[in-house]
This record gives sequence, structure tokens and C-alpha cells, in this order.
Amino acid sequence: MQLYNTLSAKEREILIEEAGKDRLTISFYKYAHIGNPEIFRNHLFINWDALEVLGRIYVAKEGINAQLSVPAENFEAFKAHLDTITFLENVRLNIAIEHDNKSFLKLKVKVRNQIVADGLDDGTFDVTNKGVHVNAEMFNQLIEDPDTVLVDMRNHYESEIGHFKNAITPDVDTFRDSLDIIEKDLADHKEDKKLVMYCTGGIRCEKASAYYKHKGFKQVYQLEGGIIEYTRQVESQKLENKFLGKNFVFDHRRGERISEDVIANCHQCGNPCDTHVNCANEACHLLFIQCEDCATAMNNCCSDDCKEIHALPYEEQKELRKGKVVSNKIFKKGRSEVLKFKK
Ligand SMILES: [Zn+2]
Ligand SMILES: [Zn+2]
Repeated sequence: MQLYNTLSAKEREILIEEAGKDRLTISFYKYAHIGNPEIFRNHLFINWDALEVLGRIYVAKEGINAQLSVPAENFEAFKAHLDTITFLENVRLNIAIEHDNKSFLKLKVKVRNQIVADGLDDGTFDVTNKGVHVNAEMFNQLIEDPDTVLVDMRNHYESEIGHFKNAITPDVDTFRDSLDIIEKDLADHKEDKKLVMYCTGGIRCEKASAYYKHKGFKQVYQLEGGIIEYTRQVESQKLENKFLGKNFVFDHRRGERISEDVIANCHQCGNPCDTHVNCANEACHLLFIQCEDCATAMNNCCSDDCKEIHALPYEEQKELRKGKVVSNKIFKKGRSEVLKFKK
């Protein structure tokens, strides 16, 4: 699926024509102060339902986070409606053509406490007081500045397979953890250093940049649209690519190759490899990096124990699983004692 950002009117026209009777899949987010999310939610539902919009939209006092699809022929009307909402005028839309048209079956607009579950309490600081947005070209210049500290706001398993040259990549499982670690590490440089941050699609930095400003950092910058948009701009504007390796993505592909560098290692044998897999033992499902040789030798499992269980008849496996939670998925996030080469 090809994602398009910040399309011109002409480009949009071509896209809609290309889509024909298909739907366009759109995602966008915006931090803003919404006084009454319930009323806002109803307003969106009434207007978007009329345009046959389907999708999952979260609305909170801190903003909106939307994943939705709209018939290509209704796109202009949808865009016009967005533009009637002050804080969504010209919001950056990620758009893709969805040929199977089944990404969403209903329109669900939900009121939540937060638009992303990031563990940061709502109301402690102003989320709209964010850092300076920079595009790929400015970002490339900024990260060469000796006064810049470049920080990767993603989790360890994301930055492990790909990150920007010279970036600090906190060894954390959650966004919340990285906020504290970075603040502590950079406590003496709140005024003299430029704090430049990036993440996958930009949304985590929206919050993080506001958080660091609230914590007293004077020069805070963020990569607009994240690695996804950076890659697009590097290609379309023929800029130098400063991202090494793969961009971790949260769909079945797990990673999108951006440069030919392989910066990670197989967690079982240590050979260069940046392919994430899930342990084939369904009761484990651990996310880890495994080379093809190890995949063959271990029957796609993360450990001898898992290999043994995975070899049992399915009914027996099910019996073993009874009453147990899939703990790796929830708590370990890609960490396990059995992985010899996981740093
Ligand atoms: Zn290996
Ligand atoms: Zn396993």
C-alpha cells in the first residue's frame, strides 16, 4: 500500500480518478484543545456518516486520531468538511488507495481520555505547545549541527533495525519510559542544546516535544510526519538519506527497508540480520530477530522449549495454554533471557 502525504489539488485529482469506485484509506491526527469531545464526536459522526465514511476515530480533550476510509467520489466533500473545523484546516492526511475496500466495516467515533495511550496524564501540560516542525531537508541540516542532540522516540525493537545516524536510541519498552530517561540524560543541556526528535509517523513527537518544552527545554524540534514522510521527501526531492536500515511498521510487513545497511543481528546466532518474526509457538509469540538459518534450525521458534511445544499436536498445545496469558506479547515486548544476542 503506497501512502501519500500533503498532496496538491492536482495530485489528489489523479489519485481519486485512479481509485475510481474504490475507497481511500486515510489517517491523520491532531493535538488540539477540544472543550466538549462528546459534542465534537456527534458532529463528526453526523457529517461523516452522510459521506459514507467508515473507520475508527478517537476524540479526546487533547485532540483527534483518525483511521478511516471514504469513497473516492466523496473525498472532496470530506476534505471540505475537515476544512470547516478550524484546527483541522489543511491537516496533513496520509492517503492510500484501498482496493479490497474492507479495511473498516463501521464508523466508530469514540471519546477517550487520550488519543494515543501513552501513559502521560492528560492536563499536566499543554499538548499544543509543541516543538518546531522540520521537513526532511531542514532535518538533514539540523542533525549535522554540533549543538544538536538527536533522539529516537521509539521503542528498542523499532530503533534496533533502523535509525538515523548518530541518534540516541533509548533502550525502552514504552514511550513513557523514554521520556524520563532522556530528560535525565539531557538535564544539563536544557538551554544550550537543540533537542531534535523523530518517530515513525510524527504523533509521538507531537506529545514529546510539548512535554520537553514544559520541562524547560528551550530549543525543541521534531521531524514532521516522522520517518514515513522523511522517506517520501528524500525520494521526491532527491535529498541525501540519513536513515540507516529499516523502518519498523506495525503491520504484517514489520519493517520497510530504507537503506541497504543491516544494523541489527540475529538474536540467536549473532549474524547480521534485521528480520523481525514472532515465535511460532502461539503461547509465546515473542517478537524477535531471526535469520533464515536459525528459523530452519529452530523451526521458527525462539527457544528449545517453544520448539518442543510447537512440535506437539495442536490439541495438546491448546491444553497446555489453558489458564495462561500470552505474557510475552504483553510484558516482554521483544525481550527474553533465551535470546543470546539481544542486547
Ligand atoms: Zn541466526
Ligand atoms: Zn517462543
